[in-house]
Amino acid sequence: MDIDTYNEKRDFSKTKEPRGDDKQSSHKGRRFVIQKHQATNLHYDFRLEVDGVLKSWSIPKGPSTDPNQKRMAIPTEDHPMTYADFEGTIPEDQYGAGTVMIWDKGTYSNNSSENKSLITAYKNGVMEILLNGKKIQGGYSLVKMDSGTQKGNWLLIKKDDKYADARRNPVSTQNKSVVSGRTIKEIEKEGRK
Ligand code: MN
Repeated sequence: MDIDTYNEKRDFSKTKEPRGDDKQSSHKGRRFVIQKHQATNLHYDFRLEVDGVLKSWSIPKGPSTDPNQKRMAIPTEDHPMTYADFEGTIPEDQYGAGTVMIWDKGTYSNNSSENKSLITAYKNGVMEILLNGKKIQGGYSLVKMDSGTQKGNWLLIKKDDKYADARRNPVSTQNKSVVSGRTIKEIEKEGRK
């Protein structure tokens, strides 16, 4: 699902989300962002810079810091790099209507021991990454399920490293934007002004 799909889903005369342009590369290392999205259903959009776009998954329960908690990650369309900076509201009649918060952001690196490129790993459905965010750090696996009722969906799984912590549960204890310090409610209120 490419950037054309992203553009087709949105009316840019109505939403403040960025229009998807040509691929861009960031100069500060590969970026990742986790956007808390209060839409019809609350979820966390997990986005990784791969080949100039943000590969994207919707994670209903958000990321876990517990290696025993596998989190369902539903693939969604590629987003433009500029989307990593989007925080605000999406109007009611628009795709994804609701409120978006930049819950975490940072850089990440390829942690694959097999020396596979990230795009190859993505296409193969097995990504090993090292995240360096403000709330989320350390190794994670993203694995695409190739059979069963969840075929096509992915799982996000924490590696058992020094950042693993079964008790931390940042999704429930850390509920403010890493960019603006605002809660979802505060972002929503400012969007209505
Ligand atoms: Mn979303």
